[in-house]
Amino acid sequence: MARKTASCRLNGLEISLMVLFLLMTAASVGLITVLALKLDSEKQPEEPTIPTVNPPETRYLIGVGRADCTGPVADVPLMGYAHTEQTARGIHTRLFSRAFIVDDGSKRVLFVTADVGMVSQRLRLEVLRELKVKYGDLYRQDNVVMSGTHTHSGLAGYFQYTLFMITSNGYIKPSIQAMVNGIVKSVDTAHRNLRPGRIFINKGELIDSNLNRSPHSYLNNPEEERNRYEYNTDKQIVILKFTDMDGDGMGLLSWFAVHPVSMNYTNRMVSSDNLGYASYAFEQDKNIGFLPGEGPFVAGFSSSNLGDSSPNIRGPVCVNTGEKCDYLNSSCPTGGKKACIAFGPGEDMFESTRIIGENISKKAKELYSSASQELHGSIHAAHQWVNMTDETVPFNSTHTGRTCKPALGHSFAAGTTDGGGEFNFVQGDTDGDPFWDGIRDALLGTPSNETKACHHPKPILVSTGEMNDPLPWHPAIVDVQIITIGSFAIVAVPGEFTTMSGRRIREAVKQELDQGPFTNKEVVVAGLCNIYTHYITTYEEYQIQRYEGASTIFGPHTLSAYIQRYRGLAKAIAQGTTGELPKGPEPPFFDDDKLFNLIKDPVADRAPVNRTFGEVLEQVSPVYKVGEVASVTFVAGNPRHSGDIRDKTLVTVERFHNDMWEIVHTDASWETRFHWIKGFLGISNATVEWYIPGAAEAGTYRIQHFGHYKQSQGNTSIITPYVGTSDVFRVTRSFYYF
Ligand code: ZN
Repeated sequence: MARKTASCRLNGLEISLMVLFLLMTAASVGLITVLALKLDSEKQPEEPTIPTVNPPETRYLIGVGRADCTGPVADVPLMGYAHTEQTARGIHTRLFSRAFIVDDGSKRVLFVTADVGMVSQRLRLEVLRELKVKYGDLYRQDNVVMSGTHTHSGLAGYFQYTLFMITSNGYIKPSIQAMVNGIVKSVDTAHRNLRPGRIFINKGELIDSNLNRSPHSYLNNPEEERNRYEYNTDKQIVILKFTDMDGDGMGLLSWFAVHPVSMNYTNRMVSSDNLGYASYAFEQDKNIGFLPGEGPFVAGFSSSNLGDSSPNIRGPVCVNTGEKCDYLNSSCPTGGKKACIAFGPGEDMFESTRIIGENISKKAKELYSSASQELHGSIHAAHQWVNMTDETVPFNSTHTGRTCKPALGHSFAAGTTDGGGEFNFVQGDTDGDPFWDGIRDALLGTPSNETKACHHPKPILVSTGEMNDPLPWHPAIVDVQIITIGSFAIVAVPGEFTTMSGRRIREAVKQELDQGPFTNKEVVVAGLCNIYTHYITTYEEYQIQRYEGASTIFGPHTLSAYIQRYRGLAKAIAQGTTGELPKGPEPPFFDDDKLFNLIKDPVADRAPVNRTFGEVLEQVSPVYKVGEVASVTFVAGNPRHSGDIRDKTLVTVERFHNDMWEIVHTDASWETRFHWIKGFLGISNATVEWYIPGAAEAGTYRIQHFGHYKQSQGNTSIITPYVGTSDVFRVTRSFYYF
C-alpha cells in the first residue's frame, strides 16, 4: 500500500484540503485512470535488443502491444469529475495501455495511448525510469509520447502535485504501479513484436458524435476565423493503419476529438468509456476467437483537442423542467447549474457510451479498409521542457504577453454540463464572489496582485502557483513534443486544447513543416500527453471564463506561448536541427516520502453469520432468454485484497460445451458488470450481472466470481482466495420456454 505520511505533515493542510474538496467536488477536472490488459498467454519480455534494419526493402519496423493496467477497483477515487466520493466499486470494462513503435532504421518513436484520465508528469517519469532500466537509451523523453484517452472512469492516485493528490485522496502506490507496469508491459510486447511493415494514413469526418459544450466561448473567436470552419467542434478522424509486409493488419491508431464522459459521475465502475469501447469493438472484430484484451491486433483510439467537445450530443437541458439552460452560465431557473446536464445519444450512460464508441469504431473501420496513402520517409522527434510560468509572446504591435504562475478561476468550480459543480459557482464568471474569495483568503491564501493582474479577467479561486505546501500545487515545467513519421506529425499536447486551440496549433505546425522536405503533411493533436495542465483555450475564449477558460492555468497567453514553442519544435524538425534544441529545465521528481496518501488499508473482511466467502446470497434464475440480465450476488472480500489484478479476471461467464466449462466472458467484457457493494465492519457483497447479448448461444451457463478475503490474527494478516459459483442456468433464444 501507499505509504502513509506522518499526520503532522498534513495537519496544516487538512482545512485547506477540506475546502478544496468542497470547491472542486463537481468540477470536471479530467484526471487519470489506469489501464488494464489481459494477455494471459504472454511471455516475459526478452532481453532488449536493437533490431537491425535491412534497407532498401524494409520500410519501417513496426511493433504493437497492449497490456492490462487496471489498478485497485475499490476505494480509490475515479479520476475525472473530481468527486472524491466517486470511488471505485467494481469493473465495467478493464483499462488497457496500447503501445505503437515505429523505427525507420536509424530513429525510433514510441506512442502510447492508455485508458487513463491523463498522463501525469509522475506517471511519465516513472515509466521512463523503468524503460531506461530495461532498454537503456532506446526509449527517452524525446521519442516517447504518452497520451491518456481521458476516460473519466479510470483510477486516480498517480500525481505528485498537491492539487491532484487532494482530488485523488493522495498518491496511491498500487494505483500508479498498475499503470506503470501495464504501460511498460505494452511497450515490451510492442518491442518484442517489431517487424518490417507498412503504414497507411486515412481521414474522414464523423458528424454525429460530438458537440461543443461551450459554444458561447467558441463564438468569441474572430468571425473570419470561425467562417473558415463548418462546425464548432472538429469532426475529423485520422487513422494510421499498420500492416506487415504481406499486408496483414497489425494495428490501428486513431485520433478523434471527444471527451470520454459518456459515463457520468454517478458511475462507480472502472470503465474505459467511449474511446475504450471503440478499441474494444475494433479489436473484437479483428481478434476473432479471443476474449477482450487478448489477441494480436491492437487498436488505439487516442484523445485529441477535446477541450470543449462533449459526447453528450442531445445537449444540455434543465432536467427538472425540460427548459433550455442559460446559454452563458449553463444554469437553470430552478435547480441552478446542477439541473443543467447534457445527455445522449442513448437512453442511459451505458447506451450512450456504446453508441459514441461504435460510431467512432465504425468510421475507423471504414477508413482502415479504404486506406491507400502510404507513409514514407524518416522519423523525427523533438522535445523540450519549458517553464510555462515564464514565457513571453508577442501580443499585438505594441505589447507583449506573458504567461502566469498557475491559478484556477471561479468557473473551474462550476464544472461543466458533463458533470456539474457544487454550491453557487457558475460558468462564465468574470466577477468572482466575495463570499468565496473570503474563504479562500482565510484558508488557502490571497493571490498576489501580480498573479491577479496576470490572469485578468479570470477571478482567481485558487492561486495554485503560489502554494507550495507540502509540495507545489501545480507544475511549472511542462513537456512540449512533436514526433513525425514521414509526412505525418503528432503534436503531443500537455492537456485539453479546445477545438479552436487545436486548429491553431495544427496550422502553425503545418506552416513550419512546410519549410522542410514534407509533402502532403497531416498534423494531429494528441491530447492529455506527458503531463496534465488542465485546459488550453484561445485568448478570445479565455475572456468568457467558462469552465475551460477558468481552467487555463497559465493565463490568457497560454495558447500563444505553446504555439510559439511548438513552432520552434516543428522548425527544428523541418531543418533537421532537433539535436540542437535546448533541453530546458528538468521537471522535479519528488521523493516518495514527500507525497501523501489519505487512503487507509482496508479492514479485515467478514462474512455474515453462518456464511462463507463466495457463497451465493441471491441466486440466478433457472432460465433466461437473450436480451435479459442474469444476476447473482456473492459474499465477497474487498477487491483490494486481491492485490495486483492485472491479467486476471474477477468474473467469468462460462458455457458448458463439449463436456467442459468454457469461458465466454470475463470482467473485461462489455456484457458483464461487476459491482462491489461495501457494507459495514468489513462485510461486503459482489453482484455480477451478465447482459445476455442477442448473439449468445442457447445453452447451459454459470457465473463465477474470484476474490480474496483478509483475516487479521494479532499483527499478521492472512489473505485467502475464494471462488463463488452460481447455480447452472439455461439461456434460450426462443421467446417461449418451459
Ligand atoms: Zn476534460
